[in-house]
Order: sequence, then C-alpha cells, then structure tokens
Amino acid sequence: MLKNKPILRIVVWLAAIVYFVTRYGIPWYQGHKATEEVSGMYQELANDNLGWDVVEYSTQGHPIYQLVLGDSGVTTLLFGGFHGDEPGGVDLVIRLARYLSAHPGTLTQRVVIVPVLNPDALLAGTRVNANKVDINRNFPTKDWSPAYTKERYFPGPEPASEKETAIAMQLIDRWKPERIISIHSDLHVINYNGPSRELALRMARYNHYPIDDDIGYPTPGSFGTYAGEEMGIPTITLELPPYNPEEAWKNNRDALIAAINMP
Ligand SMILES: [Zn+2]
Repeated sequence: MLKNKPILRIVVWLAAIVYFVTRYGIPWYQGHKATEEVSGMYQELANDNLGWDVVEYSTQGHPIYQLVLGDSGVTTLLFGGFHGDEPGGVDLVIRLARYLSAHPGTLTQRVVIVPVLNPDALLAGTRVNANKVDINRNFPTKDWSPAYTKERYFPGPEPASEKETAIAMQLIDRWKPERIISIHSDLHVINYNGPSRELALRMARYNHYPIDDDIGYPTPGSFGTYAGEEMGIPTITLELPPYNPEEAWKNNRDALIAAINMP
C-alpha cells in the first residue's frame, strides 16, 4: 500500500488536471481547437453548394475561394483569414456567405467574399504564411520596411514578395471595389483607413464596437495603408473580440449587411 502511494498521488493529480482542463479549458488549447474547427469549415468549402470559385492557389497550393453575390451596384470586397491564428473572422465570413445565399433578397449591392486569403496559415494555426511572412506587413506601401520587432511581424524579403499579398492586390484590380472590409481579431475595434469614417460609424451603429483610425502601433506595409490610405478605397479592418463565433455572428451580421448595402 505504501509502495503504491506515489502512483495514487500522480493519478489524483492527473485526474484534477483533466477535470480543470475539461471544465475551464486552457487558452492555448481553446485557440488550437478553434483553429481546427475553422480549418474544417475551410475544407468543406470544396463540397458545399454555394458556388465558390477558386481564384488562385496559395504558396502551398491550397485553394483561395471567392463567392460573388448580388449582380449590380456598389461592390464590397470582404476578406477573412489574413492571419491563420485568428479563426473568428473566417467563421464569421463563411456564416455571412451562407446567410446571404439563403436570403438573396437581403442584398441591394454586390459583395465579393474571400473567406480565407491565407489558407496555409489557417491550416498551420499560425499568423504568418508558409514562408513565415506576415501578409499584413507585406504590401507595397510607401512605409514598407524590412525591419521588424518580432518574428510574427516578418514583412518578407521585399514588398509584395508573397503570393497571398499579390492575390489580394489582383482582387482589388479585378473588382475595383468601392469599399473593403477585412476581418481580424482580437482587438474589438472597427479600425478604418482612408475615406471610411462614415462606413465605420454605420457599422458601429449595429455592432456597438468602438471605432478608431489608429490601431495604436505602427503597421508598415499593412493592407489598410495600401488599400485605404494609398489607393483611397474606404477600408475597414474589423477586429473581433476573442473567439466566440456565436456572439460574433449575432453582433456583426447586420453591421456587415449594412456596410455592404450602403449606397
Ligand atoms: Zn490579424
């Protein structure tokens, strides 16, 4: 019996750890689980019947999809999945695509939905793409710089070096959108670049997020600077709060529809 005591103690500890993790979760595990779930949603796009087109393939050869809904009016280009460790945006964009497909009367304008710009990152659960580049620091802006403070912000060897960056640029050239929304997390803010304050205010009336034209730290080579400030296209970076897909959908469905339908 004495001999067995240390084993018993280990068993009790293990049981306690399993209990707490199951009951309360741990942030790393939750993040991992979210990324896995949303990766599954991305993989299902190949077989659903919404009518996704493959625009292009990522660095590792994964399809980058788009869905065009509404055939006239002002065009909104809507992106999820710039960063693979922010699965909430992908979930929200796919939910919106399903909803709008099921309720086509909701739309008065056109939307081009790109749920996962950076599938390699989503499948790996990383911020950066397969070449370890942060796409949101890789755009060819006037302030692009090879300097970076952390690995996760690596801007690449040169501006627009990455396939995913080039695909976002091509989508703008192709669709000439009047407005752009890209969805990130977890900062809980509507960040706006370029002439987009009115659009940000309109969205805030529905989701009640704060709005801001400055994220609070430098973002050289960012998509917002590229499309919003330098191309002059109203560009919103919608930063969701930490992952809670049901809540994000409830709070943002009407905000996104209002933004797309803005005359
Ligand atoms: Zn992000």
